[in-house]
Amino acid sequence: MKKYFIDLIGSDQAKEYFISALNGGYLSHAYIIEGASGSGRRTLIKELLKAMACESDYAPCGKCGSCIRLDAGVCVDVRTIKPAEGKTELTVDLIRGIYDSVGLMPADIPFKAYIIEDGENMNRSAQNAFLKLFEEPPENVYFFIVTTDAQALLPTIRSRALIIRTERLDREQMRAVLDRKGIPDDKKREDAIALANGSAGEAMRIYGDGADAVKLRDTADKLIKALLLPDSDKLSFITVHQKNIKKTDELCKVYALLQSALRDVMACKLGCSENTVYFTRYEDAEEYSLHISDSAVIKTSDVISELLSISDVPLNPALAMTEFASRVWDAHLI
Ligand SMILES: [Zn+2]
Repeated sequence: MKKYFIDLIGSDQAKEYFISALNGGYLSHAYIIEGASGSGRRTLIKELLKAMACESDYAPCGKCGSCIRLDAGVCVDVRTIKPAEGKTELTVDLIRGIYDSVGLMPADIPFKAYIIEDGENMNRSAQNAFLKLFEEPPENVYFFIVTTDAQALLPTIRSRALIIRTERLDREQMRAVLDRKGIPDDKKREDAIALANGSAGEAMRIYGDGADAVKLRDTADKLIKALLLPDSDKLSFITVHQKNIKKTDELCKVYALLQSALRDVMACKLGCSENTVYFTRYEDAEEYSLHISDSAVIKTSDVISELLSISDVPLNPALAMTEFASRVWDAHLI
């Protein structure tokens, strides 16, 4: 039997499903690939297409003509549909464009694939146009709707496609990916991993940026200590916050780090995996988890999301930072 995806790291459930679907020959014509941004949705689709086209015993091999063309994004049988430049909506015209080529024979690989980006932005008429393709799927054509939220799609679309979910990578998986990319195992890499929120691509980008990541990580560490250690108090938390975060862009990045730290703390409380995303050592997450209640972790994370969503509104920065710090502190006491 052929071996699939021996090199693919993460999203184990999705991987398992596709391995058995490939072996059993029961791939569906339509998939909704749902997951957070940075959770490897496009990587999963690309690896799947490579595995479907590759003739090696270990597919995808990454070396044959079809693997190379699919990797480089130059295979003529794979088309990506996304909103027009500067627009967010996927219109009916874009979907109708699929009809022009869908019936043609594939030229490069044994099938054709259409990847619909930002599927949650397909308006209703676009979704209805799409539905017609689903109802009578042409042979050897596969559709992938990439989305952060499958619920934003019409129930008629959801019921005709299989929903596959991707998960962010944990710290160990991130390390494995970066090892493979030849990035040296040093402090800078650990900082980039902590900052990347489970996205290997993002970690690579941050690693390239350098010093900034170290400083942000340092700020986030200080804030977590000031928030969660037993001898902390509101005034010192606000002071640490004010001293270290001056600008909105810093605030957004540090808050994103706080959220991934809180996710680790919550995973710890629930006795989930010992693989952390933010903390280098599991014991650190464990230690912090003793000083905050379950509901306070959720509340604090919610408040941070809320503050992130209003942080791009013009505010009096100094006042806003104090107000933000105060709200985060209050949330963690519940
Ligand atoms: Zn190959």
